[in-house]
Amino acid sequence: MIERLRHWLHRHRHPIRYAQLDTLLHTQSLSREALLEKQRHDLADILDFAVTQTPYYAETLAPFLNHVPVELSTLPILHKALITQHMDDLLARDADRTQVKVGHTGGSTGNPLAFWYDDAKHELMRAGMMRSYMLSGWRPGQKILNFWGARQDVVPGGVFGAQFGDAIAAEHTIAAHEYTEEQLIEWAHFIQRYRPVLLQGYASILSEVARAVIENGLSMPKSLLGVYSTAEVLTDSQRQHMEQAFGCKVFNQYGSREIPNIACECRHGNMHVFTDMVMLESVPQKNKTGSNENRLLVTSLTNRLMPMIRYDIGDSGRLLGGACECGLPFPLMEMALCRQNDHIRTRSGKIVHPSYFNRLLYGKTQIRQYQWVQHSQSRIVLNLVAPQPLNADTLASLALSIHQDIDPQLSLEVHYFDHIPSTVSGKHRFVIGLA
Ligand SMILES: [Zn+2]
Repeated sequence: MIERLRHWLHRHRHPIRYAQLDTLLHTQSLSREALLEKQRHDLADILDFAVTQTPYYAETLAPFLNHVPVELSTLPILHKALITQHMDDLLARDADRTQVKVGHTGGSTGNPLAFWYDDAKHELMRAGMMRSYMLSGWRPGQKILNFWGARQDVVPGGVFGAQFGDAIAAEHTIAAHEYTEEQLIEWAHFIQRYRPVLLQGYASILSEVARAVIENGLSMPKSLLGVYSTAEVLTDSQRQHMEQAFGCKVFNQYGSREIPNIACECRHGNMHVFTDMVMLESVPQKNKTGSNENRLLVTSLTNRLMPMIRYDIGDSGRLLGGACECGLPFPLMEMALCRQNDHIRTRSGKIVHPSYFNRLLYGKTQIRQYQWVQHSQSRIVLNLVAPQPLNADTLASLALSIHQDIDPQLSLEVHYFDHIPSTVSGKHRFVIGLA
């Protein structure tokens, strides 16, 4: 009863979000053929919009659109460096410039990126997330507990800012960018008291909470229907730990801040691509180490603020044929991403999530690549690829943040490189903790 009341109140507070959720649930009920037909239309519309509404695409895309039908695979790729260079020219002409905001991503591949967003895009993102949650059996109005590693999301204006401790939203967010062993146990006790239906958060944090639950023999509430893992690679052992500790299924979500809701796992463990929100391509490419990978390119079908066509998101994976027994019409994919996330550990026993270090570099878009490496408990090195060295003020403020937030004894060194080597698997590690 309380859940139904909460749902009703929440629906009234966020009418746009729920209208979008209704639309998304409708497209989910279409046949595979109808869905793909809609995707073709949506793609043609967004290409037309991009060319007529943005200076960037008017210049780069127009020459390719003379021949119909347009072959997506012939269009230029949008690399992160191009977004940084042409940020203003990617904003739609008719965008209300008093309403647009700049979001930041630390970039799992080590490229800080800025992008435009507004309230409408935020609402659609939340609607898409709700649809993904519903794959577990969750219904609007039921409780969600977020363990979030990115500090900026849990302040007012952040992804979860408006819902922080919001009883109507039935959603609570724990800022989990750093923690101790005692903290993990406290959070496990909070799960027991709060009795959420879903847990959501970074795989690295949720698997640490799971470890503490198992090691301390804590029982988890029967209310739990699913654990939504996001933002990071989810390893098989992390998944097993979480399913054992929380007694429910783990759902891996795929999306980014700049293009959310790309894909999500269903109850059968298959990852479905949300073809009503994105057009996803997998393109074979040689990586920096010379080996082949299937690079994922994402085209947002909904972003009419900052169109992103064939965006090189920095991950690899494959599109799969066939259907899933769950009955969803969305086609299948398989991730090959290996977003390595290491934690930094201090002498006082504090464990700091890698996203803290990404956050320190937000807005510093002159940085082309970065990597934080902890060499000892008293020394951390920031390796950078940047056209110019950071100025003295920036360096001083980075060191000050680290001393204030982490450990006054941790010394910071910055080294410059032409290129930061990838790991054996060909992936960039942006934070490397002590071995
Ligand atoms: Zn399925």
